[in-house]
Amino acid sequence: MSTEYERLKQLDHRYIWHPFTQQKHWTECEQPLIVDRAEGFELIDVDGKSYLDGVSSLWCNVHGHTEPELMAALSDQAGKLCHSTLLGLTHRPVIELSEKLISLVPKGLSKIFYADAGTTAVEAGLRIALEWWQKQGGTASKQKKKLLSLGGAYHGDTVGSVTVGFLPAFHGSIEPILVPALRTPPPHMFRFYDGLSEADALTASIEQLDQLLQKEADSIAAFFMEPLVQGAAGIWVQPPEFMKAARELCRKHDVLFLADEVATGFGKTGTLFAVEQGQISPDIMIVGKGLSAGYLPISAAIATQELYDGFLGGVEEGKTFFYGQTFAGNPLAARVASANLELIEKRDVVGGLAARIETMTSALREKIEPLGCVDEVRQCGLMVGIELTKRPGERCPFLPEELAGWRVIYEARKRGVVIRPLGNVIILMPAVTMPLNDIERLVDVTADSLKAVLEN
Ligand SMILES: *Cc1c(COP(=O)(O)O)cnc(C)c1O
Repeated sequence: MSTEYERLKQLDHRYIWHPFTQQKHWTECEQPLIVDRAEGFELIDVDGKSYLDGVSSLWCNVHGHTEPELMAALSDQAGKLCHSTLLGLTHRPVIELSEKLISLVPKGLSKIFYADAGTTAVEAGLRIALEWWQKQGGTASKQKKKLLSLGGAYHGDTVGSVTVGFLPAFHGSIEPILVPALRTPPPHMFRFYDGLSEADALTASIEQLDQLLQKEADSIAAFFMEPLVQGAAGIWVQPPEFMKAARELCRKHDVLFLADEVATGFGKTGTLFAVEQGQISPDIMIVGKGLSAGYLPISAAIATQELYDGFLGGVEEGKTFFYGQTFAGNPLAARVASANLELIEKRDVVGGLAARIETMTSALREKIEPLGCVDEVRQCGLMVGIELTKRPGERCPFLPEELAGWRVIYEARKRGVVIRPLGNVIILMPAVTMPLNDIERLVDVTADSLKAVLEN
């Protein structure tokens, strides 16, 4: 390691508290990868070594890093306007982005509320849903104060979004201050924990949701779900029939349906948005991560006209939606997001997905599934979760203190690939435009690293 590396590492240790990171482990056990720049699908560290970006920089990157067309849009915009506000003013980049975005999302979604992160857009969505019922007037709609979400859901990290996305491992210590919310098990839980077949798990989870709604719908404002894939849970995949049934049940029981596409949006599941595979249109759809191709923070809660109309009234009526962030819809981010959407169309990114997914599927089948340390491989499009086991042929997860996932990803890093574990699951999430040979290299290195660390 160079002296420059050592200098930066010491400064990091002195000043920075990293998100989702045990700092004791970070400062005492880890050789941090210090990223200096990037090119295409490679991250390059301060000593000039390249690493394949195997998780698309936390599930965001769409066209690779330093994509010339995106850089041109960014630098042009930087010369014009870096920041203004959407509170009481508007600007060209966000207007142009909005027209484009509405043309791409499911029919019925027509009004875009911008935010600056996935979690603040989820928060906007849940506030719109809760406030909409309250603003309807009438005692029945005023009863609708609770939120409903899936077991194992993740929707971001503000207290509001944690309410619908509670994961005991992450949020146990703040449980007493969370807004009460109801949860219903997704098909994955019945399949993985109860051993039901795919078809029976689907039926069981739909039945459970139906029963809960029959009993509780009068008090429920909205149902939240990550369509097709619960990402942060460890890539829990559902058949598209689940969102379809959930959408119908919500309509039948007068519960708003919110689709959180922060992770699944912009091609990751094989279609531009996951909801397309269930042929549904939600009342609110949340987008983030890939909206600006993973370059700048911007997100949105996209709502129906009906929800929007519920907030209309005279200024004295108290119907205004009093919510927003300083940097919501930032011009630089909006401009890059427009360029991203144009590139997605111009390069037919969606049309190029099938070959990439096929390459991923066959590489996983050939290299990862046969390994003794692999319990199961879950895949939806280019979202992959590899569930580890200590004993071949049995379900026996590694304990957190064994750091199995971490040891695997450090080994992969030595071999020039960046990936990240989620507990007992190794996640692969290549950018949706990654070349086929890089997808193969990603799986090869993951397989070699699993073998080197867990099969000796
Ligand atoms: C990442 C993620 C979020 C949170 O987005 P941030 O930009 O990190 O706030 C919300 N929902 C889902 C499904 C996500 O994957």
